[in-house]
Amino acid sequence: MSRIDLHLHTTHSDGSFSAAEVLRFAHKAGVTALAITDHDIVSGIPEAIATGAELGIEIIPGVEISSCVGKTELHILGYCMDWQDPELSRRLATLRASRHTRNPQIIERLRSLGLDITYEEVRTLAGTDSVGRPHIARLLIEKKYVTSAKDAFDRYLSEGRPAYVARELPQPADAIAWIRAAGGVAVLAHPTWAKVSGEGLNTLLATLKAEGLGGIEVHYSTHSKRQTTEYLDLAKRLDLLVTGGSDFHGITKPDIEVGTGLGDLKVSEKLLDPLKKAALLAHHS
Ligand code: AMP
Ligand code: ZN
Ligand code: FE
Ligand code: FE
Repeated sequence: MSRIDLHLHTTHSDGSFSAAEVLRFAHKAGVTALAITDHDIVSGIPEAIATGAELGIEIIPGVEISSCVGKTELHILGYCMDWQDPELSRRLATLRASRHTRNPQIIERLRSLGLDITYEEVRTLAGTDSVGRPHIARLLIEKKYVTSAKDAFDRYLSEGRPAYVARELPQPADAIAWIRAAGGVAVLAHPTWAKVSGEGLNTLLATLKAEGLGGIEVHYSTHSKRQTTEYLDLAKRLDLLVTGGSDFHGITKPDIEVGTGLGDLKVSEKLLDPLKKAALLAHHS
């Protein structure tokens, strides 16, 4: 049976492979449908559609928006939206601008720690308007200040580390509303990041559902069997759609592969129809 992958990053945000390259990996892995879900940007979608037509891979329009509740970051995936919607484009541009406010502050901190890097160098390396910490990590690897992206995050970039600077993030309700206004379905990415489980997660998901959340990313590269089962149960209990994806980034998450994650990820193509149906309903409501 064929598989799908609904969470992938490209060079249009902080992934290290182009959309065409990601699709070629997907083709090799037997993926028949996928969503490019770059952070705060949809510019990789046309290239994905073009290569998808060549390889026979269906492209689901996607995006990933970071939001926060207090100090907890929740990432909201958008699917099947009109990715050319002008209002959504405007929102995403504002989110990218907030990255350009934060990133130079991170660079200043790194410079004050004695590291010789500039934001110009990061922007050149990134080659896209959606610049993230993984790009900074890659520059630190190139300059041999760290040995891996994990090393860069552990030593400098993660919350609580000396070069961490918070970014101004929207509330999840806002991200959900923007996706839905463009005719899309909003899904909570990698629910482990919510740092709650059991009743706490049930309450959070119920709140997000009341705000318009349509689904939960049950299948994910780093989820344990127990977590996957818990999220599946919650999805059933709350009548939320089930989605899944690898969160492939290339060199900043070197263990994760397109379609198979850490090796045992398998997202069924059967999840696709309910997602598309929900988007159609969103369009007509
Ligand atoms: P930003 O969007 O600039 O806040 O950067 C956050 C992104 O960095 C996340 O979406 C992940 O893709 C990536 N990331 C976070 N922690 C790590 C880590 N320890 N190693 C590699 N990548 C990470
Ligand atoms: Zn990322
Ligand atoms: Fe994410
Ligand atoms: Fe992601």
